[in-house]
Amino acid sequence: MSTDDRKAELFECLDDIRARVPDKRQLVAVSKYKPASDVRACFEHGQLDFGENYVQELEDKAKELPPEIRWHFIGTLQSNKAKTLAAIPNLHTIQTLTSTKAASALNKNIPDTRTTPLNILIQVNTSGEDVKSGLPPLTAGASTGELTELAKFIVTECPKLSLQGLMTIGSLEQSLNSEGGNNDFETLKATRDVLEKYCHDELAGKSWGVDGRLLLSMGMSSDFEAALKAGSDIVRVGTGIFGGRKTKTEIAGQK
Ligand SMILES: *Cc1c(COP(=O)(O)O)cnc(C)c1O
Repeated sequence: MSTDDRKAELFECLDDIRARVPDKRQLVAVSKYKPASDVRACFEHGQLDFGENYVQELEDKAKELPPEIRWHFIGTLQSNKAKTLAAIPNLHTIQTLTSTKAASALNKNIPDTRTTPLNILIQVNTSGEDVKSGLPPLTAGASTGELTELAKFIVTECPKLSLQGLMTIGSLEQSLNSEGGNNDFETLKATRDVLEKYCHDELAGKSWGVDGRLLLSMGMSSDFEAALKAGSDIVRVGTGIFGGRKTKTEIAGQK
């Protein structure tokens, strides 16, 4: 495909998705495995937020692409990679924090030249699947746990981090509840409500969230409209914008 054809294709998909995301909500274009040229084209078409899953790929793209891009890290976060991530000047948000160890490593390694805090979403494992990372959800009955501990640690011990909210991936076989709602979305919302109350009560006067609220990052290509309806603030769309991806195994096989 020619460069111009590829651009036309990307613009059409991006415009279509953007038209379905209300103004106040955030669309993160997930560009993993896609070439930097695709990201640049979308950026030049007005898209600022991009998500990546792999530290090396994010580092390489961030070096090559405009500094105005707001990068979101959405992959599994290992604390030994925190230093590399912290050094990326236009890293906007880590959406997948799950440990105090990684939080402290990020906080320690953010250079003094960075003028804004690094935004943080804590990943919650709403589906309870072993393969998904994330901390267990909270309920009104079990309103404290690892999640409140981590939130407190970020807010009180990590001045270079800014706790913004929660993120979930959810089950692929979307489990629907009796009212037809998505269980993962409902679980994340309920967890957010409990954590928000904890922050109001226990972390009063400290800096957390956006205008006294915690944001929700949920919804991908197949379900972002349902997620928006359920109250998502941030949706992460890859395939819907960039088209299908090769799997990790297919990519490994090419080398
Ligand atoms: C890959 C990925 C996405 C995008 O998924 P699509 O189905 O391609 O939209 C969103 N969130 C996370 C965490 C991902 O890893």
